[in-house]
Amino acid sequence: MTSRSRKAEEETTLSELEVLVELQELDIRLSQLAHRSLTLPERDQLEALREQDSKLQSELDEIADELNALRQSQNDREVEIQHLEDKVARATSSLYGDDMTSPKDATVLQSEIDSLSGRQSLLEDQIIEIMEQIEPFANEESRIESARHDCRSQMTALEEQIAAHINEIDSERESVVIEKRNVEERAGVELIELYAENRKRMGDHIAVGRLVGTSCGACFLEIAAVEIDRIRRLPSDEPSECPECGALLVR
Ligand SMILES: [Zn+2]
Repeated sequence: MTSRSRKAEEETTLSELEVLVELQELDIRLSQLAHRSLTLPERDQLEALREQDSKLQSELDEIADELNALRQSQNDREVEIQHLEDKVARATSSLYGDDMTSPKDATVLQSEIDSLSGRQSLLEDQIIEIMEQIEPFANEESRIESARHDCRSQMTALEEQIAAHINEIDSERESVVIEKRNVEERAGVELIELYAENRKRMGDHIAVGRLVGTSCGACFLEIAAVEIDRIRRLPSDEPSECPECGALLVR
């Protein structure tokens, strides 16, 4: 390397436009952090668990409907049995009471008692059947409730992991923001505005390109010699754009 080209190399390194590269790198880091925050694998896992939880909830709702109907029907029969027992008790007490004189009335009463008792034992059989129907639903209900409990615990654990990652990402972002503020102070308002405009137009990675030899570091295209001459003759702090892609060239 000749001393002249070494001098040119040093000037490149010390270019006032170098802050543009720094700004772009910091913005890329900020975008990466934002992307990382949005795409934490735990978020997908959490979403899957949320779906599972809501599926379990609707299964529980269905079972609750079945159980409610069965328990209601058991309860209706128990209430009816209570009434029947009262009636039987009253009839029995009349049958053996002092007022009972006519054998015909006694027969009528006895047959009423038999009929009430028959109805009662029918209801009791039905209650046993209903209880047998309730059992598998109740078992299924506790199985699902326990699955749901596990699902909820996993969700809580994931939420905690996500919160921890977000905390990390936030503190990293804070330090990048501070770094960026320092670079912006060095860059000055005009360069920042130019950079912001270019970034809005071109995106994160290609708003600024380093001039490498005669190629643009953003689009990698060769820049025409006459353009290179023109760009190299500009004052070192004067921004220029790649004639091919429009990236701000750092030279
Ligand atoms: Zn270019």
